[in-house]
Amino acid sequence: MTDDIPVRIRPEIAALPPYRQGKPAGDDGFKLSSNENPFDPLPGVIEAMSDAADVNRYPDASARRLRERLAARFGVDADEVHIGAGSVSVLAQLILAAAGPGDEVVYAWRSFEAYPTLVRVAGATAVEVPLTADFRHDLPAMAASVGERTRVVIVCSPNNPTGTVVTHDEFAAFLDAVPSDVLVILDEAYAEFVTAPDAVDGMRVLGLLDRPNVVALRTFSKAFGLAGLRIGYAVGHRRVLDAARSTAIPLAVTGQAESAALASLRAESELLERVRVISARRDRLVAGLRDGGWNVPDAQGNFVWLPAGEHTAAFAEAFEEEGLIVRPFVGDGIRISVGEEESVEKVLRIAASVVQTLP
Ligand code: PMP
Repeated sequence: MTDDIPVRIRPEIAALPPYRQGKPAGDDGFKLSSNENPFDPLPGVIEAMSDAADVNRYPDASARRLRERLAARFGVDADEVHIGAGSVSVLAQLILAAAGPGDEVVYAWRSFEAYPTLVRVAGATAVEVPLTADFRHDLPAMAASVGERTRVVIVCSPNNPTGTVVTHDEFAAFLDAVPSDVLVILDEAYAEFVTAPDAVDGMRVLGLLDRPNVVALRTFSKAFGLAGLRIGYAVGHRRVLDAARSTAIPLAVTGQAESAALASLRAESELLERVRVISARRDRLVAGLRDGGWNVPDAQGNFVWLPAGEHTAAFAEAFEEEGLIVRPFVGDGIRISVGEEESVEKVLRIAASVVQTLP
């Protein structure tokens, strides 16, 4: 069939690049390209998922049980929590709710690759504010980029892919500088891996600063290891979340995902112990990479950033040849997830050998 079709597609959608997913690893390789959790799911989580087996029925549209559980955990009301099919769905809903054609959405760049796509799908205009030289959000510059047409600002902490965090004080000052009618989305997909004591914590911000324009976004994909089940959430003002709920594709969150998330929360201490293991592994990676000659920024998620610049593609190939699938951002750098224990030495060995090929 011909590719030349008469159907009229919105030009901004036709121009979008297709979604790129990390490649699978070979048999003795490691997939370190999607910031996944390397641990197998807990048996109790699998069990809870299978028990929720009445798949001939639709799920509970608002995932009420999970909202109530998270609300109790964070000291908010159940209608101040909104569940979606992955936090990326919730993010899409929030952007659609607040920004449309003619509106601007401000975010740092480089950051999570979904941001430019979601903004374009909403018909809005992206305003990308470069990271600082040490790969952090430049919050004063972001605040200065907020104008009449800005409806949303996205702050990603820890930032994917550079791993750096925004501090609590920086974020508080930023909120003071941004008009209260602009929605500020704090994307904290990697919050549980953070060990820096001064890092922003969305749940604390919401409690301390009481700002209806701030929404914190979190997920079960990373620390809780449920990436394949697609479940994430936002905590914020009920009126903002009502608007997000209005843009949602109904019933996208399955009962299986909700049950698995609830079971994960019941096993939270065990899962957070795994998170501590991953964070310690990450710190070893950062220290080892620095010893090997890399200028690696502080990493607070479950991944590290190699600023490889123009050598990115060649270096990523060197990793792949050794069975390590990493995520290259061509011309910029390589993001490497903190994976299995056995992958750590291998990453350090290859990273140290490629850095020596630099002039
Ligand atoms: N935010 C950030 C910063 C991410 O890196 C990701 C996943 N890569 C997400 C949100 C979305 O995660 P999920 O949809 O699996 O919850």
